Amino acid sequence: MILTDRDMPDMDGLRFVEQLLQSPELAGKAKVIVLLSTGQQGESARCRELGVDACLTKPVSQAELFEAISRVLGPLPSKPDSPQRIRRQTVPKANRLRVLLAEDNAVNQKIACRFLEKEGHHVTLACQGRQALDAIERENFDVVLMDVQMPEMDGFEATAAIRAQERDSGKHLPIIAMTAHAMAGDRERCLAAGMDNYIAKPISACELVELLEEFSGAAREEASPA
Ligand code: MN
Repeated sequence: MILTDRDMPDMDGLRFVEQLLQSPELAGKAKVIVLLSTGQQGESARCRELGVDACLTKPVSQAELFEAISRVLGPLPSKPDSPQRIRRQTVPKANRLRVLLAEDNAVNQKIACRFLEKEGHHVTLACQGRQALDAIERENFDVVLMDVQMPEMDGFEATAAIRAQERDSGKHLPIIAMTAHAMAGDRERCLAAGMDNYIAKPISACELVELLEEFSGAAREEASPA
């Protein structure tokens, strides 16, 4: 992967990328991210023509850079996040969700929180399964994003405990599993454990938006009188 600034003396970033991608060893193989300055957003079309995979406008936050790298390098050869699928609009107020994020990794917490809050959702953080259960006792949530690998009580155990409690109440809290390994059997294992859906890490912003939209629709239906 090549990360290059647009503005450089002598040969600028775009000319550099142009020449670079003429090399048969790199064309179609190297992933390229270009950093633009404010006011250069118009150059993103030129970047696309050159075969640049992502453009970011400076100053670039750690989370934005991480998200772009994840998107460009991709966790899976599944549906790519093309730029037109990323909507910059935040979700309408009615679709805003109370999200419980159960995740033990500080970097993932930060990225997911930042993204969800940017979308207008309200996020409560739990660092392990037991904390997630406590939070559910205290507060109402529309959806849980549940890391499966957490210390002490993992996502599978926490989900089992939530589903056991629901047997009496008749409620159903949607749980989306987050797993580190995109393995073929993961989805089945998560669904069998009582989770409603599954997302592989590194989490794609687009995929998460789509999943949450599903649940915001369900939350609205439940909130409105029958
Ligand atoms: Mn974890």
